[in-house]
Amino acid sequence: MFATLSDRLATTFKNIRGKGRLTDADIDATAREIRIALLEADVALPVVREFVARVKERARGEEVSQALNPAQQIIKIVNDELITILGGETRRLRYAKTGPTVIMLAGLQGAGKTTLAAKLALWLKEQGKAPLLVAADLQRPNAVNQLQVNGERVNVPVFAPQPGNGVGDPVAVAREAVEEAKRKLHDVVIVDTAGRLGIDEELMKQAADIKAAVNPDEVLFVVDAMIGQDAVNTAQAFLDGVGYDGVVLTKLDGDARGGAALSIVQITGKPVMFASNGEKMTDFDLFHPDRMAGRILDMGDMLTLIEQAEKTFDQAQAQQDAAKIATGEFTLEDFLKQMQQLQKLGSMSKLMGMLPGMGQFREQLDNFDDREIDRIKAIIQSMTPAERANPKILDGSRRARIAKGSGRQVSDVNQLIQRFTEASKMMKQLASGGGMPGMPGAPG
Ligand code: GDP
Repeated sequence: MFATLSDRLATTFKNIRGKGRLTDADIDATAREIRIALLEADVALPVVREFVARVKERARGEEVSQALNPAQQIIKIVNDELITILGGETRRLRYAKTGPTVIMLAGLQGAGKTTLAAKLALWLKEQGKAPLLVAADLQRPNAVNQLQVNGERVNVPVFAPQPGNGVGDPVAVAREAVEEAKRKLHDVVIVDTAGRLGIDEELMKQAADIKAAVNPDEVLFVVDAMIGQDAVNTAQAFLDGVGYDGVVLTKLDGDARGGAALSIVQITGKPVMFASNGEKMTDFDLFHPDRMAGRILDMGDMLTLIEQAEKTFDQAQAQQDAAKIATGEFTLEDFLKQMQQLQKLGSMSKLMGMLPGMGQFREQLDNFDDREIDRIKAIIQSMTPAERANPKILDGSRRARIAKGSGRQVSDVNQLIQRFTEASKMMKQLASGGGMPGMPGAPG
C-alpha cells in the first residue's frame, strides 16, 4: 500500500532538493505534483483540494525555519498535513466504567470483520483483558463457525447460538452475550455482526437494532482499504444508517493505492482506531497517524532528524555563517563551532543513519568512528586564534607544533587544512549560487 504515492512524493521532493529558496512558482509546481500524487493514490477530491491548499498556504507563510532547507521544510509541512488528514492523535479505545466494555463491529461482508474480531480479542488479551467473542452474524451460513475457528486460534471463548436453532435472532444473541459476559467475568465483549456484499436497508436496520439493544461503548466500522473510493461511500452509508465511533482499516498489507485510508477520516469525521495488515492474528495494531504518515513519506528517520535540527540549530549563528561563507570569511574557528553544534544532535553515524537511502551503507556507518570528529576538533583547538582565522599562515613549523599539541601526525593536520580549504571554496561557490550553509566537508 502507498508505494506509488511514496515514490511520487519522493520525486517531488527531489526536484526541489537543491534549491536555496523556493519561489512562488516552485511552490505552485510542487503543489501541483502533490495534487497529482494524491489523486493517483485515489484520495477523494475534496480531501486533495484541502490538503494541497493548506500545504501551499503554509509553504508561502512565514513559518519557515532557518534550520531547514526548502525541501526539508516542504517535507515537514506535508508530513504534518498527512498526520492531520489521518486524524492527528492516536485514538485509543474507551472502556466502560462499570460492567463489561461492549465493542460492536459493523461493515460489509468480506471487509475482514470476523478476522478482525479475533485479532482484536488477541490484542485485548495481551493488554490483560478477558474478552468474549460474540457471533451475531447469523446471516452467512458459515459465519458462526468461522468466528469459532478464529476464536480457537487466539484462545478466546466464542458466544454463539446453539446449532440447530434455526436462523436465530442476532439482537437476542448480542443481548444474551452481554449477560453471559457479566456472569463469566469477561471485561470486554466483541460483537461481530452480519455484513452484506452491498449496502442494504435490512442490514443497516439489524446493525442499528443490535446497537440499540447492547448500547456499545464503541461501534467500529470495519472497512477493506483495498476497495478504494468505495470505502469512502460505504463509510458514509454506515455512518448515516448505523452510526459508529471509529474506523478499522483492514488489508493494509495489500497493494491498493491507499486513498481510502487518506480520505476516510476527513470525509466521515471519525478516527481510524485500528489497522489490520495481514492474515496472521498478530498483524494488527492501534492506528498511529504519525507513523502512517512516516511510512507514506518513506523518509527513514529524516523527520526525526528535521525535528532535532530545528531544536538544536542556532538560527542567528547560521545566518552569520551563511554570510561568512558567501564572503569567503568562514574560518576554522567557525568550522569548529559548527562541528560542536552538530555533535549536539548526536553521534555522526546515528545522524547519517537517519538519512533516507543510507540503509545500504549500514556497514560503513557502523564502522564510522565518531572519535574522528573529536580528533579534528583537537587539531583545530591546538591552533592559535590567528591560525584559525587564517590557515594560510600555517607553515611547516606551525603544523608540527599543532600536530604535537593535538597528539596527531603532521599529515593529519595537512589533510584537514587541505580539505577545509577545498570545502570553503566549494561552499563559497554554492553560497553565491543561493545554496544553504552547511558543513564544509564531512571528515572521514
Ligand atoms: P467478514 O466477512 O467481514 O467477516 O470478513 P472475513 O474476516 O471473513 O475476511 C475476508 C477475507 O479477508 C478472509 O479471507 C481473510 O483472511 C481476509 N483478511 C482479513 N483481514 C485481512 C488483512 O488484514 N490482510 C489480508 N491480506 N487479508 C485479510
